[in-house]
Amino acid sequence: GEEARNLHVVLFPFLAHGHIPAFLRLAGHLQALRPGLDVTLVSTPRLLGSLCPPGATSPPVQLHALPFTPADHGLPDGAESLADLHVHQFITFFQASESLRPAFDGFVAGIASPVCIIADAFFAWTADVARARGASHAVFLPGGAFGNAVFFSVWEHLPHTLTAGDEFPLLDFPDVVLHRTQLPRFMLAATGTDPWTAFFRRVIASCRKTNAVLVNTVQELEPSGLAMLRAIFGVQILPIGLVLTAPAPSKSHDDDDARIIEWLDAHPPRSVLYISFGSQNSISIHQMAELALGLEASGRPFLWAVRPPVGFEPTGGFDPRWLPAGFEDRIAQASKGLLVRGWAPQARILAHPSTGAFMTHCGWNSILEGVSHGVPLLGWPLGAEQFFNAMVVVEWGVCAEVARGNLESSAVERGEVAEAVGMVMGETEKGEGMRRNAGATARAMAAAWQGPGGSSAVSLEGFLRCVETSLLLR
Ligand code: UDP
Repeated sequence: GEEARNLHVVLFPFLAHGHIPAFLRLAGHLQALRPGLDVTLVSTPRLLGSLCPPGATSPPVQLHALPFTPADHGLPDGAESLADLHVHQFITFFQASESLRPAFDGFVAGIASPVCIIADAFFAWTADVARARGASHAVFLPGGAFGNAVFFSVWEHLPHTLTAGDEFPLLDFPDVVLHRTQLPRFMLAATGTDPWTAFFRRVIASCRKTNAVLVNTVQELEPSGLAMLRAIFGVQILPIGLVLTAPAPSKSHDDDDARIIEWLDAHPPRSVLYISFGSQNSISIHQMAELALGLEASGRPFLWAVRPPVGFEPTGGFDPRWLPAGFEDRIAQASKGLLVRGWAPQARILAHPSTGAFMTHCGWNSILEGVSHGVPLLGWPLGAEQFFNAMVVVEWGVCAEVARGNLESSAVERGEVAEAVGMVMGETEKGEGMRRNAGATARAMAAAWQGPGGSSAVSLEGFLRCVETSLLLR
């Protein structure tokens, strides 16, 4: 077919810090495959501002801001990201995000060249915009295949509402058996007529109208998860799992980052445990106390990116009341631990040779950032599809789950924390196996983008050719 001229790719990540870096990396890959390609990343003004703070290298794409007034939806002023909100405000935010449609439509309508929209699943309604404007359309899942497939399958059928037991199979994939403790609180409370179910069923319906779903995973690592997504959406599913070519945008100050890297430099290779629960999830204050005391008891050096515990102001600054009395002084005196009180330079921390293990909430970016550097994981999934991501990394043999959730019922005990840390970082058979598997998985991730024959490179190239030759246009 005839190649379209001046293809313009419009990227539209969901309004969450964990979703934007993967879209930026996608932009980098698209521009590497097609030098000079027009790529615009669309978001809200404050989020775009945080991508290029003064002094930071600006992302390699054009930026377009859509007007968004959180107060119109009963949300706090300036709340443009899930990280700015309490969990009970999330659904309002998801619904409010649908109000971006007219402005997004206007932006696409104003582009004279052929357009390809690549939107987050939570913005899958853009498939209708694409159809109306003659654009091609793909959904990009910044998460993994299995995690997303399970997440959508549960929203579609709410299998846990059909049984009184703690365990239940997925209706469409009966080989996958979940436990109630693996459901985020909104799913657990879902009835089928609640706003969360309604929102995600709209998402699923819209995803079925897209031309292709791009997934941030690697064919060789998640064949069955990819097959599940194909069954759910009935469209082309393309694993384009990304090597981490572009660092995540930094929100922190260079001085703070330098202090952290210096601290790591002063430690032996693979000796430090890094702890982070991502950009928008928190553990409870009781769990924080057990974690703190367990880390102390482990005797291993640790670097902990501390977020406000559940129920505390999500955008509030560090408060010593979050942690057991005297904890910070004791660990500082013993040079055992360093607390990061704001945004951590996570990608740099995980790439640092002193980092030996990563306690993570199993957000997909965190998983990729850790495992791509051969760092084994201690999993503590908290929400969204993180519980299912944890199943994937446990299956890869790179993760041990230490805890689950932040509900009242999710007890965590300091002794177990200390034991798990000793296992993953010490000379134990299990720990050594996990480190070996993490190394092998890292090589599989890198291979997906090595040379033109890597599986992810082939998928993305194939996708671009389809778009350019309008094969995907219906
Ligand atoms: N991140 C970071 N510093 C922090 C917290 C998070 O750089 O203090 C980055 C992290 O490197 C990752 C992203 O934010 O790229 C979090 O994404 P993930 O999918 O792991 O979790 P989410 O925040 O979406 O739950």
